[in-house]
Amino acid sequence: SSFGHFNFDDKLLKGIIKAEYTSPTPIQSQAVPCALLGRDVLGVAQTGSGKTAAFLWPLLVHVADQQPVEPGEGPIALILAPTRELALQIYTESKKFAKIFDLRVICAYGGGSKWEQSQALKEGAEIVVATPGRIIDHVKCGATNLQRVTFLVLDEADRMFELGFEPQVRSVCNHVRPDRQTLLFSATFKKKIERLVKDALQDPVKISQ
Ligand code: AMP
Repeated sequence: SSFGHFNFDDKLLKGIIKAEYTSPTPIQSQAVPCALLGRDVLGVAQTGSGKTAAFLWPLLVHVADQQPVEPGEGPIALILAPTRELALQIYTESKKFAKIFDLRVICAYGGGSKWEQSQALKEGAEIVVATPGRIIDHVKCGATNLQRVTFLVLDEADRMFELGFEPQVRSVCNHVRPDRQTLLFSATFKKKIERLVKDALQDPVKISQ
């Protein structure tokens, strides 16, 4: 298939074909090879561009290579999204591909049951999709921690900032080990986002649609 040049293993290629994706979107063609090399990525991309899979496939390759998360350990990959709706969309897309590798995904968003989320977090999952305020709540309560996170995605960073989540986003970045890989997606690029990029990403590859 036209996904062949990503050098994904057969399991993932089969999953992509099963999802009825026939060719990569422009953002996927550009972001996936860079992310697979371990580079930080700054993506200027809107919803509908296929940006979710663009960060998700490299994330899965990264996570599938690590020891499974034990109960009491935090996730290996963390995806931050501005709203419950987007977090749930990412969660749905993630589960479709994560099951191929037997990886677990938890979605933790504001407004959802804190108790149920914290029970799931305590059992452990390799991948967590969360809204910024809620993940910090869970860390503060001891339901999870960010010590094992080596792959961090900040999706729709501009919307997270518009919704007032800048302190929470920055707090998460400061609590995740500095040698992590970071992918940041934003539809717009204002000064505040530029500053976050400078502070939270290392020599990112910049990609636009
Ligand atoms: P996103 O921009 O990530 O929200 O994706 C928009 C929609 O496009 C989602 O429903 C995806 O499942 C779908 N999609 C993502 N990548 C592809 C692709 N390469 N081919 C066809 N559909 C895709």
